[in-house]
Amino acid sequence: MTRLTILEYPDPRLRRMAVPLARVEKHHQQLIDDMFETMYDAPGVGLAAPQVDAPIRLLVMDVSDNNDQPLVLINPDILARSTPGTMREGCLSVPGYFEEVDRSHEITVRALDRLGKPFELQAEGLLAVCIQHEMDHLDGKLFVDYLTELKRSRIRKKLEKEQRQRSQPKSSRSPAL
Ligand code: ZN
Repeated sequence: MTRLTILEYPDPRLRRMAVPLARVEKHHQQLIDDMFETMYDAPGVGLAAPQVDAPIRLLVMDVSDNNDQPLVLINPDILARSTPGTMREGCLSVPGYFEEVDRSHEITVRALDRLGKPFELQAEGLLAVCIQHEMDHLDGKLFVDYLTELKRSRIRKKLEKEQRQRSQPKSSRSPAL
């Protein structure tokens, strides 16, 4: 398995619309395994394929305490939603930031599993929120889009600064003598 690079906001690749999978093929199984490894390692509870630069409608998640309930959703579709609520969310593509977001806390979702078999799932609480958060990634949407313009641009500027600092060679960060 391979640990994949997670794209970070405001990378424009996170804004692409992901395409449905016509069929689940062998290389998708590999991608799913790599995405789980990347997510558990981060650590995070959900990861969408566009976050690792694969613009397809595929997501992995595990909201259990012991990392023993892996869940794969391919071409997910929300059939019903209810129970509005608010939860503090973070995102592996927006590292270090957590904000309250309004979402349905009970949903019914239909998807294909990792073998391409259709299934329906009733989800509530963290799992329901996680599915909606990850599904947003498939439409190029991020949780910062639910925040005010001011908050969003503050987060963007800070992350851009961090990314600039990280990409600079160490020597150029030293003071000039
Ligand atoms: Zn996310």
